[in-house]
Amino acid sequence: MGAKKGRVVSGARPTGRQHLGNYLGAIRNYVALQEEYECIYFVADLHALTTLKDTDKIREWTYEMVLDWLAAGIDPEGKGTILFIQSHTPQVSELHTILSMLTPLGWLTRLPTFKEKVRAQPDNVNYGLVGYPVLMTADIVLYKADTVPVGKDQAPHLELAREIVRRFNHHFGEVLVEPQAKYTEFPKILGIDGQQKMSKSLNNHIEIASEPEEIRQRVMRMVTDPQRTHRHIPGRPEVCNVFTLHGFFSPDHVAQIDQDCRTAKIGCVDCKRLLAQNIADYFAPFRERRAALATEPDRIWDILADGARRASAIASQVLAEVKEAIGLPPVR
Ligand code: SF4
Repeated sequence: MGAKKGRVVSGARPTGRQHLGNYLGAIRNYVALQEEYECIYFVADLHALTTLKDTDKIREWTYEMVLDWLAAGIDPEGKGTILFIQSHTPQVSELHTILSMLTPLGWLTRLPTFKEKVRAQPDNVNYGLVGYPVLMTADIVLYKADTVPVGKDQAPHLELAREIVRRFNHHFGEVLVEPQAKYTEFPKILGIDGQQKMSKSLNNHIEIASEPEEIRQRVMRMVTDPQRTHRHIPGRPEVCNVFTLHGFFSPDHVAQIDQDCRTAKIGCVDCKRLLAQNIADYFAPFRERRAALATEPDRIWDILADGARRASAIASQVLAEVKEAIGLPPVR
């Protein structure tokens, strides 16, 4: 791990079985980053509490999500990646409290994501919701991560983290590492409705662990170019979500599909059949690995426990440095 470019930290809320949007937007990037960086990935179960009502699902959704991540190639055993559950390193909550004292409220309420959340859940604007970007900052700086993969829309959060770090270091000395953004393209994947972002809650998703028949059924329901109401009418691939997914799963066929769609040589049914087949083929090795892992649930929890131990070792050290720099009295 020593020769790597730096240390990456990233987490995601537990959402259960992952879908194509999760895979194309985050998981494959997580997998690729392991080649060049020391990676620390976590299941953000505490963050989930800011918006989640069904807390009884958190355990199951954590397990299912981690199963997908591991089967997709996040590799604690081979690549040394630290994979753990956020609440298993309670130091993060302590650092969150400390950093919250350094964060003016206005920095949080001005964030566009906060305003969006207030609009989305006006009846549940809780204290944790306002402060979750501070918890996010703690998630990063607790491990002295220097690199954070972010999409452009998350840039304000990382900038906030950097401001908090600068403020801390200005007051108490150079203890914390100011994380740098690694801007990553997170393609927005639309659901099978062709309208909204793919999401489990909208039930417009295709799970990556689906069997080929389930994939086929979902793909066949996909909305295509709305103007192509009959087989003989030429289509417009640029407005068709089936075509977008072909771009990821049928790279050798996209040019031909583009041409055949515009000249009505191919019908949407055949086009979708090809996509369903290619998605199913793409994830065939993944399904095999997932099925094998699922026979050993204890191993999944052991991997997470080991990840928490390793994360905790770093976290305890950093938290001790933070407390000492502030001047909090040591335990005797
Ligand atoms: S042929 Fe394919 S790309 Fe063209 S509109 Fe139909 S599904 Fe979309």
